[in-house]
Amino acid sequence: MTAIQREKMDYDVVIVGAGPAGLSAAIRLKQLDPDRSVVVLEKGSEVGAHILSGAVLDPCGLDALLPDWRSMDAPIKTEVKEDNFYLLGPAGKIRIPNWPMPPLMTNHGNYIVSMANVCRWMAGVAEGLGVEIFPGMACSELVYEDGKVVGVVAGEFGRDPETREPGPSYEPGMELRGKYVFLSEGVRGSLAKEVIARYELSKGHCPQKFGLGMKEIWEIDPAKHREGTVTHTMGWPLGKNAGGGSFIYHLENNQVYIGFVVHLNYENPYLYPYMEFQRFKHHPMVAELLKGGKRVAYGARAISEGGWQSIPKMVAAGVALLGCSAGLVNVPRIKGNHNAMLSGKAAAEAAHAAITAGRAGDELNAYEAEVRSGPIARDLKKVRNVKPLWSKFGLTASLMGGGLDMWLNTIGLTAFGTLRHGKSDAAATGLAKDFQPIDYPKPDGKLSFDRLTNVAFSFTNHDENQPAHLVLKDPSVPIAVNLPKYAEPAQRYCPAGVYEVLGEGQDATFRINFQNCVHCKTCDIKDPSQNINWTTPQGGGGPNYPNM
Ligand SMILES: Cc1cc2nc3c(=O)[nH]c(=O)nc-3n(C[C@H](O)[C@H](O)[C@H](O)COP(=O)(O)OP(=O)(O)OC[C@H]3O[C@@H](n4cnc5c(N)ncnc54)[C@H](O)[C@@H]3O)c2cc1C
Repeated sequence: MTAIQREKMDYDVVIVGAGPAGLSAAIRLKQLDPDRSVVVLEKGSEVGAHILSGAVLDPCGLDALLPDWRSMDAPIKTEVKEDNFYLLGPAGKIRIPNWPMPPLMTNHGNYIVSMANVCRWMAGVAEGLGVEIFPGMACSELVYEDGKVVGVVAGEFGRDPETREPGPSYEPGMELRGKYVFLSEGVRGSLAKEVIARYELSKGHCPQKFGLGMKEIWEIDPAKHREGTVTHTMGWPLGKNAGGGSFIYHLENNQVYIGFVVHLNYENPYLYPYMEFQRFKHHPMVAELLKGGKRVAYGARAISEGGWQSIPKMVAAGVALLGCSAGLVNVPRIKGNHNAMLSGKAAAEAAHAAITAGRAGDELNAYEAEVRSGPIARDLKKVRNVKPLWSKFGLTASLMGGGLDMWLNTIGLTAFGTLRHGKSDAAATGLAKDFQPIDYPKPDGKLSFDRLTNVAFSFTNHDENQPAHLVLKDPSVPIAVNLPKYAEPAQRYCPAGVYEVLGEGQDATFRINFQNCVHCKTCDIKDPSQNINWTTPQGGGGPNYPNM
């Protein structure tokens, strides 16, 4: 086979992913030196198309990056006015008052935003500074030379779906080379995963932990809409089956973001996270809010939950991991956008200093040091024990013990030191024989919807003729191993209905409807056999989120 010839372009910094981390890095690089050549590559059809957050934004990241953002017509207008926290039972609720909450948990001064729109706005700011941004350019490969990362391959398409060899309409894409490559792909980035494995960046750190976040946008009755209200719940319907909870954020225009997060370390392989979300909307408190409204969009995305203990080494020769590619979410606050921005800024400053000193392709240790000692560290260290306490002892222990520890941490003390996370989420999955199937009520089509109907509201699209980007390491595993041992949980954990088991017994087959994939990455995380590899879709595609 002849080597593929590609057009090459050289930049100072190549940035993969136009989320808050990548765009902040791009903006900061240009602020520091307008002549720096910076390119941002984004797999979504436009910037924002693949962005899914809650989102309540802590503006500290933006304050550091663009101190004048309030006078820059940013789509950040809805200040949080009311903060509610409830423990739910099947029909009732207990309000947890705000006063025992540690100060870091308050949303005072934060904003309810569409992060997709914030990213669209940040892309405009970056382009105004001269950053080149190419949407629709999925980075499918890293380019290595002499053990260093020197670039990425983006925009390749036209491989044969069966053989994966170049087909008749093959386009080789481009090789974009940089003195430094920033991977800001968000949670479970496919190139970041490769770099973490190749350079053993997780060695000595806890395994990363994850949740699956699902979200709908609803337009509700104006009489029930309370702009600026933030509500979080825990408890029903998950109970002891899994950790997690919900968020309900009232943004502008009578719209409400309603979302549900399920921690992916659940054991019962019959758990069906999507149906837990649908069931949640039938709680009287939620049903009353949504009654008479309509769902206008749906999406899903994994969220990193390992926090401080799980941050891998963030740099290797020529490459740095930014934002959620390094797992910088503050779990009890369900916030990662501020740290994504701060990490982008820090990586840019380290790269600027290195390039100014004539360096290229080495480790940006100043970036790593800043993340581990600066504002990101201060944010994440305080909450580091909440998730391990929840995983080991359940919700009540996490609320009490985690709350105490967060309080103590505000004055520099801790009750627990640094607790470690246990197994990976995949390894936490239990055997089907040890659990009972869960009987979920059928969606009513008014408050709750079947999965495929909802996926249509993510406006997801992949070319049917592109190779499936969900690659089984061993195609026999789903039926030969996962089905008998775990009742093949891919049928249930995927929030987009990508995976199906058809037929029974000897006739059972496994089908992958990759066209439906919303790029949440849950399969790559939760498959108990770790047999599914989520690769960057060659040819692009994915959701087309509106104001998620
Ligand atoms: C349900 C949910 C609710 C959340 N709520 C909040 C909240 O209220 N507040 C908060 O602060 N945080 C919240 N978060 C966390 C927040 O979304 C993340 O911390 C944040 O998105 C991380 O930013 P990022 O730039 O690292 O990655 P992302 O925002 O995920 O952006 C990554 C970008 O890179 C692109 N990309 C990925 N791989 C490639 C590739 N190979 N080639 C080209 N492009 C690529 C993606 O398409 C995407 O546009 C929530 C997360 C979820 C899932």
